[in-house]
Amino acid sequence: MVGGGQLARMTQPAAVALGVRLAVLAADAGESAAQVVREPVVADEKALEDLTSFAKSCDVLTFDHEHVPPAHLKALEAAGVVVRPGTNALLHAQDKGAMRERLSAMGIACPRYRVVADPGEVARFVVEHGGHAVLKTTRGGYDGKGVWLIDTDTAPEVVAEPFRAGVPVLAEERVNYARELSAVVARSPHGQAVAYPVVESVQKAGICVEVVAPAPGMPSERAVEAQRTALRIAAELGVVGVLAVEMFETTEGELLVNELAMRPHNSGHWSIDGAVTSQFENHLRAVLDLPLGSPDARAPYTVMVNILGGDLPDVYPAYRHVMARDSGLKVHWYGKAVRPGRKVGHVTAYGDDLASLRERAWHAADYIRGDIDE
Ligand code: ADP
Repeated sequence: MVGGGQLARMTQPAAVALGVRLAVLAADAGESAAQVVREPVVADEKALEDLTSFAKSCDVLTFDHEHVPPAHLKALEAAGVVVRPGTNALLHAQDKGAMRERLSAMGIACPRYRVVADPGEVARFVVEHGGHAVLKTTRGGYDGKGVWLIDTDTAPEVVAEPFRAGVPVLAEERVNYARELSAVVARSPHGQAVAYPVVESVQKAGICVEVVAPAPGMPSERAVEAQRTALRIAAELGVVGVLAVEMFETTEGELLVNELAMRPHNSGHWSIDGAVTSQFENHLRAVLDLPLGSPDARAPYTVMVNILGGDLPDVYPAYRHVMARDSGLKVHWYGKAVRPGRKVGHVTAYGDDLASLRERAWHAADYIRGDIDE
């Protein structure tokens, strides 16, 4: 796995259970996954030479992020490396422009969009779309970095900001959504696929803070529609591994696709404790072309709340406190230095009573973060 973040880290227990050796290429020996795998390779994830030498020790190459340059991936494939998901599929998770174009060609509902060349074009787009828009850099964004909400009266320097990244910029209509959903599927090279229950994800300032599985109150036909859309995208793009399809559910009940991720995704972390087979295990099974495991939920509801770094530099006493208070709660820690707003872990609670699960998970996350003290 290229990338040493928490996604690679959480893939390691699944690899251990499957009896598979997970090798990790990390940018730094202190990274989240480098702490937990045997002999992590510390190298430059963006250097072809480093990727090539890492790939020599692996049967299959997969990723914990989308930041490896597409040209390098093509070169690795040309040299006979098994890259999963393949370059042609992965491009649609690396480049929001390519993704919008392809999904629109497939007739999949997305926010209306246009590639814009300069602030003048942005101004025209905003006027044509009700006075609001969202600007996105097509490449390199994550966790809301690379996304700007703008209106007719937004300051010119803010409108100019996305253009500074030196990559094409997308303008999108500002969708007035009721909530955000995510449909996670896994697909293997010979085409077997499984769909996880569709979840609701709550974002704050562009960062996912909470996921509820399944999305509460969702009519089953709409959940099936979301799953079918994700399975269709996985099949048509030839995705191998986990695909997360982030969607907006409008107040009229329409589903619009926002984003694709082709790797285990934050909206699937609940599956470690809440599903028969976690998204990490199914990602490994898929890229290794093993039969996929059941994505079924183990309980009527599972709630996952992210722990974002807060003001408490020493989280250990708080961590102990939440475990003592609630023995049914599962705490996951990523081994990352605590910095404000950074994802440093998550907690999961599962059972029957959604309100109490949410209360328990939020209490633990807020307590560890230092926002509450009882
Ligand atoms: P990232 O790649 O950083 O995750 P996203 O495209 O997922 O970026 O956008 C981050 C968040 O910004 C979304 O979760 C959503 O809350 C908001 N957002 C993105 N696009 C739109 C849109 N077209 N209309 C309204 N809100 C949007």
